[in-house]
Amino acid sequence: MKYQYSTKVPVSNTDPVGDLLRAAANPDIISFAGGLPAPELFPVEQVQEAANQVFQEKGMTALQYGSSKGTPELIKVVADRLAIDGIQADTEHIMISTGSQQVIDLTGKLFLNEGDTVIVEKPTYLCALDVFKSYGANLVSVEMDEDGMKMDQLEKALTDHPETKLLYTIPSFQNPTGRTMSLERRKKLALLAAEYDFIVLEDNPYGAVRFEGTPLPAIKSFDQTGHVIYTSTFSKILAPGLRLGWVVAPKELIEKYMVMKQSADLHSDVLSQYIVAKFFENNDIESHVAKITALYKERKDLMVDAIVKYFPKTVTYSRPEGGMFIWIEVPGITDTQKLSDYCIKNDVAFVPGEPFYCDEIVPGTFRLNYSNMSPEQIDIGMKRLGEAIEKILTEG
Ligand code: PMP
Repeated sequence: MKYQYSTKVPVSNTDPVGDLLRAAANPDIISFAGGLPAPELFPVEQVQEAANQVFQEKGMTALQYGSSKGTPELIKVVADRLAIDGIQADTEHIMISTGSQQVIDLTGKLFLNEGDTVIVEKPTYLCALDVFKSYGANLVSVEMDEDGMKMDQLEKALTDHPETKLLYTIPSFQNPTGRTMSLERRKKLALLAAEYDFIVLEDNPYGAVRFEGTPLPAIKSFDQTGHVIYTSTFSKILAPGLRLGWVVAPKELIEKYMVMKQSADLHSDVLSQYIVAKFFENNDIESHVAKITALYKERKDLMVDAIVKYFPKTVTYSRPEGGMFIWIEVPGITDTQKLSDYCIKNDVAFVPGEPFYCDEIVPGTFRLNYSNMSPEQIDIGMKRLGEAIEKILTEG
């Protein structure tokens, strides 16, 4: 049978990142490749306790179909947390989603027609690029520096593409670079969205995982005109396997999101929603997040020390104040895949930069994750990586 796929399906049969992550799952390999939280901090007992209570108190409701908007209990949890990001919204502006990944997909479904222009950061989260490509978007990337997307470059992109419909940004501890958009740029972006009349999808999965520096308000907090849609998730502050996130948007849009969600999955898992709401009732989430940030800071510091110790002096690296990733650029490396293949053979893994770019690729770039490996693994793995870089640089 020759299957006739829709145009949404990628033409290529290869999945280099998937292959890499499968190879890196080998326990002999020290993997800085994935984007996994530290599982030793999952509050397994507390979640189990919450689950037991949910089954006792409302087992039948928890196993029944639910509303596409989400359970009122979990929506209330989200509404209470929005103040942390300076967002003023009430429950009618919130919908619970199946992770923030679903919000990216539903946003594509809601706004994008074939050929619509979407502006993204250069580089950006590869699974968001996959979503926008699947809806036939014309992707335009805007360069970043340590303060996030460059606003002069964005204005140029908007002048070149006044038809821009959507801009996707991860303003805090970005995936893959770990960089954070400055306060001034957040304000400017909200103004530009109103001026040029495009939607901003503000994806903030990592914002709560800040271990240094001063917390910054969300871009959404500067939105006076309904141009900014905000999404976040329980994946990094609690557990990604629960698959729960949320979207904050004007009421009219939340109603549209609910229609799109109905055709995607009817609603997010009701049982998980009750369990998470119960977890929040029973526990102090801030002290749990403090444990996560303390561990990630320790691991980030170790990784930065190891870069200084084991990598050539020409290497540049980002300085994340939170989140899970450091972005590396090695001048002189033209084929990052070759470095990656060599590293896998030598039992260490990272994700090469290529898939994070939608157009021109910056060679010699790659992403390192520090949240998921122990201090010993970080030291040994970074030493191996440093030796591999020296070898590829020498051999060319
Ligand atoms: N956005 C970004 C930037 C991510 O890195 C991820 C996953 N790591 C997601 C969205 C999706 O996360 P989830 O669906 O688990 O909320």
